[in-house]
Amino acid sequence: MKVLKFGGTSVGTVESIGAVLDIVKKAYDAGERPLVVLSAMSGVTNLLTKMAENAAERIAFDDDLKFLEERHFDVVKKLIAVKFQNPVFTKLKLMLNELEEILQGVSSLKELSAQSKDLIVSFGERLSNYMVSKVMEQYIANALFLDASHYIKTDSNFGNAYVQEDITQQLIQSLGHTHADKLLFVTGFIGSNEKGRITTLGRGGSDYTAAIFGAVLNASAIEIWTDVNGMLTADPRIVKKAFSQPILSYTEAMELSYFGAKVIYPPTMIPAFLKKIPIVIRNTFEPDFTGTVIQFESGKSAFPIKGISSISDISVINLSGSGMIGKSGFSGRLFTLLAREQINVVLITQSSSEHSITFAVHPSDAAKAVKLIEAEFELELEANKLTVPTVEEDLSVLAIVGENMKRTPGMSGRLFYALGRNGINVRAIAQGSSELNISVIIGKENLSKALNAVHDAFFAQLKKTLYVFNVGTGNIGSTLFRQIHEQHDFLLDNNDIEIKVAGISNSRKMLFDVNGIDLSNWNDVLESNGEVADLSTFIDRMKAMNLPNCVFVDNTASKLPSTYYEDIFRSNISVVTCNKIANSGTYEQYKSLHDTARKHGVDFFYETNVGAGLPIVRVLKDLMLSGDRIVKIEAILSGTISYIFNNFVGDASFYEVVKNAQALGYTEPDPRDDLGGIDFMRKMLILARDAGHAIEPTAVDLGPILPQACLQATSVDDFYAELLKADQYFNALKEKAESENKVIRYIGKLEDGHVAIALEMVDEMHPFYSLSGSDNIISFTTERYKERPLVVKGPGAGAEVTAAGVFADLVNVGA
Ligand code: ADP
Ligand code: ASP
Ligand code: MG
Repeated sequence: MKVLKFGGTSVGTVESIGAVLDIVKKAYDAGERPLVVLSAMSGVTNLLTKMAENAAERIAFDDDLKFLEERHFDVVKKLIAVKFQNPVFTKLKLMLNELEEILQGVSSLKELSAQSKDLIVSFGERLSNYMVSKVMEQYIANALFLDASHYIKTDSNFGNAYVQEDITQQLIQSLGHTHADKLLFVTGFIGSNEKGRITTLGRGGSDYTAAIFGAVLNASAIEIWTDVNGMLTADPRIVKKAFSQPILSYTEAMELSYFGAKVIYPPTMIPAFLKKIPIVIRNTFEPDFTGTVIQFESGKSAFPIKGISSISDISVINLSGSGMIGKSGFSGRLFTLLAREQINVVLITQSSSEHSITFAVHPSDAAKAVKLIEAEFELELEANKLTVPTVEEDLSVLAIVGENMKRTPGMSGRLFYALGRNGINVRAIAQGSSELNISVIIGKENLSKALNAVHDAFFAQLKKTLYVFNVGTGNIGSTLFRQIHEQHDFLLDNNDIEIKVAGISNSRKMLFDVNGIDLSNWNDVLESNGEVADLSTFIDRMKAMNLPNCVFVDNTASKLPSTYYEDIFRSNISVVTCNKIANSGTYEQYKSLHDTARKHGVDFFYETNVGAGLPIVRVLKDLMLSGDRIVKIEAILSGTISYIFNNFVGDASFYEVVKNAQALGYTEPDPRDDLGGIDFMRKMLILARDAGHAIEPTAVDLGPILPQACLQATSVDDFYAELLKADQYFNALKEKAESENKVIRYIGKLEDGHVAIALEMVDEMHPFYSLSGSDNIISFTTERYKERPLVVKGPGAGAEVTAAGVFADLVNVGA
């Protein structure tokens, strides 16, 4: 036989009860002789608890009672043929009347004992099981309702009663004889004490009921049917990427559920474990999915851990004192005291000096625990052998669990790296002696971020989500959005990376969406739903969203965003930018930025600062990292200047070439912004700094292209007038070059820590001789590349290649 247990959501609605009936019928028809355990309809246990508490305060409960009646009656109306409905209504009504009388009793006494509360909540399971058994009776005549409180015997610890095994076993066994041919619908969650008073087994206890029956009746399996595809790698409400684990060992399941995986109640594993009966967690709403099997062996797995679970609300109590802690007997006294008073200690850690003990309890127990400790250790406190216990609140526990952990080194390293990289402070650590779990205590505000970051770290084969906050929606920004949008599926399929743009701002408007802004339509959404832009608010909101793998992208040409970079690094958020301003200011600023990023373990990527999408910054970094030494860098890093000199040949005049370049959109509105060489200077400066030189902008030797008169002209028109006059000068240059079979190039050079940029004439032996169009070129002469330098050449400007460079940086964040 098999036990099939269905949770509250499985019996929560008319439709779901329909699904339950199908599953049970199928098992019955297959000859599996199922025994069914049902929970109360979803929300009913909470509602009954509230009604009980209200009654004690004389707060009316009639509406709630009516609501309860309607929910059950509605099922009867829709799922039982009219001619069979009346006796079912009558019986349900009788139960509800009894409940009302009890509530009235509580109300007149103005007192709610734990015993009355258990009696009141027990109606949830009794109503649902009776009701569903009657629905089933229409199809399978020997369906029968069974009140498990007559069979599960417990102590009198109401609310969380302890099961008395021997007597329970005898009673359930007798059932096997008397009701052998019945299809039983058994109330989960409830039992009774020796006086026959109803008790409950703890919230979520219907799972336990199923295991108790399954173990006594030697079931072939205990199936826990719920609303998810099994035991998942993390709580799916917090970690969207959580996935179902096919196999867990009893201990793994126990550990995961103990640390908060609500899908199964921890004690459930014990009876099953003792009889080696597999527990299978399955989805009522996806009955064909195999779910999770919980069995003796942990099974092979591609991952070092099985799951991550958490308890969101925890208080931590610290005790210290050189005179007491560490002395034999102290811990014994402490934890015996807490156990005796029914305070559940979730986790304990002891410092290596043994002068302090830290333990975690549920927040509702914290004050009581402190009082108990103060009373028990009064003498020690007075003698200053122990300091007054302190309580820290608003904490959470996160635990990683898996039997494979003990065979895999580096697990705690991976855990702490993921937390550290995301700026999550660990308050305390505990590792179970079985090495089956590592638990950490962290601030509650970081729990969701931590779970997602740790999930990404341990299930790395799975897709990683990057959350992008982008400022600047000009040419590059909007091209980047298009590229991300177009590459979305490819990246997911081939690189397991998903990029979600969670924030966009331009100078007018800003917009946020944790689920990722729709990039096919971002502009309209930004326009219609965006708020008034404010950079400081944008950054505050980004920080407050507290997302893992978070990247700030600066696609502006403004200085303002760069003033926030350090602050952003300090919040453990990476920065990717095509904006050169931050790296080309003072050296002190450059250094401080890079140091801060390094210190916080985040990335600062700016490949597009030099040569747009061409791999230049990265190549330099790789050369340096691999221990090579830069001897010389030579480069042409201005596409505009390249274009101009490449076309300044034959009969063309310099004036015409510049005019033409401007007409084609290759220059800034004032061509002197290009020809002045400042932009080129910034790029050389950044390369020199990345190559390890502490250089200031003023130290760069920037040779002029234009004669003084051109530079001094007060308007663009005047500039052109001057340029026309300078034709003679440029023609002379050109003729000299041509007569020597050379070409004119504006070349930046880094050598011996000195940067110079100047016009040069190079012959055909020079690698820059054959440069065409607006291409950039850079050659690295290093210890290793000495004979023939390493050359990178290609288009060094344009929205498409620049956005692609930003994109490549993004994908590399955290890699
Ligand atoms: P039931 O009513 O069927 O007993 P519960 O609400 O008690 O269901 O447990 C199922 C819920 O547990 C799921 O809907 C899910 O939100 C939550 N849950 C938390 N952690 C996990 C996990 N690691 N795996 C699966 N579910 C989890
Ligand atoms: N109905 C009970 C509860 O909500 C028992 C259960 O669902 O397992 O806790
Ligand atoms: Mg449950």
